[in-house]
Amino acid sequence: MLVVHHPDQALHDPEHVFRMGRFLPQPDRAERYRVFLAQSRKHASGVVEAPLCGLAPIHAIHDEDYVDFFRNVWDRWSAIPDAGPQVIPSVHPTHRMRRKPKDLLGELGWYSNSTSCPIGPGSYQAALASASSALHAAELLLDRGGPVYALCRPPGHHAYRDLMSGVCFFNNAAIAAHRLASKLGRVAIVDIDVHHGNGTQDIFWSRGDVLFASLHVDPDFGPPYYAGHADETGEGAGKGLTLNKPMAIGTGDRDYLAALDETLGAVGAFGPAAIVISAGLDASATDPVQTFKLSNECFAEIARRVTGLGLPTLIVQEGGYLNDNLAACLGAFLRGFQD
Ligand SMILES: [Zn+2]
Repeated sequence: MLVVHHPDQALHDPEHVFRMGRFLPQPDRAERYRVFLAQSRKHASGVVEAPLCGLAPIHAIHDEDYVDFFRNVWDRWSAIPDAGPQVIPSVHPTHRMRRKPKDLLGELGWYSNSTSCPIGPGSYQAALASASSALHAAELLLDRGGPVYALCRPPGHHAYRDLMSGVCFFNNAAIAAHRLASKLGRVAIVDIDVHHGNGTQDIFWSRGDVLFASLHVDPDFGPPYYAGHADETGEGAGKGLTLNKPMAIGTGDRDYLAALDETLGAVGAFGPAAIVISAGLDASATDPVQTFKLSNECFAEIARRVTGLGLPTLIVQEGGYLNDNLAACLGAFLRGFQD
């Protein structure tokens, strides 16, 4: 298995998010990059440092004004005399608010939907390195076959075309899937992160060439809220190509694998030429988010069942947060692709 990464991913390391009325440690620490790299090396036939990509593949998925805002926000923020040590919004447009203002705080709220995307001096460079890793992994999959593991941090699946969301800035899986689809035709994305891939769903909502399937905690009871219900199925050319499997808090291996089998059946029926796995590890029983109860063996079994589709497979790292089992969980998952 090829492993693709870029060291600039560790440049993003803000300390806090604001949640439940207090500042809490930011879950997507730079240390995750080092844990994932050390573990994935053990399963690698080769480790590749991705070249940093230009803006064209980013603009294929994200609006140019959003990308420009993100690229410049730290410089604008740090020029404000009494600004805090990290960029965190404190106001957002919501229902019936449709005009983007020119002031920094107002614009920041326009391009984000919560306080969960703190930005520091290296955040843009890290997000670009993360997206570049996904894109280069897609190129390697096209050239050499798979599976290929794209170590991506910060993750991407909550990022919309014009919105940073849930510790995500650029939608790495979407950038990679778009590249694969432009070359191969039909591509499927299966998102196993415990949180719904709301950004990815929105990006491919009305496209006929990319199927998006997600297994996640019921959005009525867990973040990212607002999307991921079973009756959301896409529209236009994408009608029927969004597939959501919301599940209860506390879901364990057996129920999860039953939902996975249904999902992979639909993926197979779609007839994709390649598959992208949005590989969150935060459905693990040991993850700090404490939502699902999956064992490491279940992650290995997920990988084996995906492999059973017989498709070129790109694994894109999403969530999964620091805990004593994080490296072992990734190891079990990657090993499952090699069984
Ligand atoms: Zn997650």
